Amino acid sequence: MPTTKRRNSHCVLLASLLALLAGVTPVAAQPSPPSSPPSPAALIDSARSLAGKDLLPVFDFFCVAGNARPNNFSAPPLQPVQLFDNLYAVGNSETIVYALTTTNGIVLIDSGHPGDIDTVVLPGLVKLGLNPANIKYVLLGHGHSDHYGGAAALQKRYGARIATTAADWDTIAAEKPSQLFGDAPKPARDMVLREGEPLVVGDTTITPVAIPGHTPGSLAFIFAVRDGGKPHVAGLFGGTVLAPGFVPVPALKQYVASIAHYIDVARSMRVDVEIQNHPIFDATPARLAALTTRKAGDVHPFVLGNQPYLRFWQVVSTCMQAEIVQRETVK
Ligand SMILES: [Zn+2]
Repeated sequence: MPTTKRRNSHCVLLASLLALLAGVTPVAAQPSPPSSPPSPAALIDSARSLAGKDLLPVFDFFCVAGNARPNNFSAPPLQPVQLFDNLYAVGNSETIVYALTTTNGIVLIDSGHPGDIDTVVLPGLVKLGLNPANIKYVLLGHGHSDHYGGAAALQKRYGARIATTAADWDTIAAEKPSQLFGDAPKPARDMVLREGEPLVVGDTTITPVAIPGHTPGSLAFIFAVRDGGKPHVAGLFGGTVLAPGFVPVPALKQYVASIAHYIDVARSMRVDVEIQNHPIFDATPARLAALTTRKAGDVHPFVLGNQPYLRFWQVVSTCMQAEIVQRETVK
């Protein structure tokens, strides 16, 4: 529709002009494709400048050789914590389970390691004053057992609806017993989530975004949170590739495409709060410490702002692109 197109191009022009006036580069601007692909070193340099000072931890994790690693299953439990008026975090310190409270019960995002549900996840919720019997939905960021580990118990005990993509119901069905967790209890196939079909629970809308790469059906979730009543928008990218070395190049390329798509959605939904289910590259421990000493009027340590949030994912993507080019030139 020409009118919309014209309006959009005006918006882009206006945004660029405003950004120029403000002395910042608009994140929307994608560089035109160069004639020859950039070298890994050039990509790493550009990731470093995108990261600036504020996002150095994410650059260090993904762009500095030897730092990227999977989550540690033996990491200690997280100190149960209320992050926002309606968002709580429990579980393992490297595999977090989020509890989003709504006017129609609790939505869990992920359900923790197999074996942790009765020792860590549910006691954590109780400690925060939440009643596990009010868990209505468990949304899975992806279908690996460190995320669906507690789902079967919640399904049986409380009748909680378990939800993931059709592709990741298949991932769950196909997952083999692991050395560490043995035969993890699998939830019975239940709700299917799709991008474009937000889940509405009471006063809360959760928007799933398809981000295949880590698994074929990985999802990000976007939802509103409140900080002392002040509204923000949280983004949880539920399928981050933590150890790209284990992932074949085609899946890494799919992951890079998923990040680009996610950035588009996060821009239009104005996501400004950064949280992870595997919070090992986003300074979560330091931010949790800052939350405990936060004084009235201080910025909430999990509120980055929309532009830095988009930059965060551009840093991850640029480091992954460096990894891809590196591997393609070596072969
Ligand atoms: Zn995981």
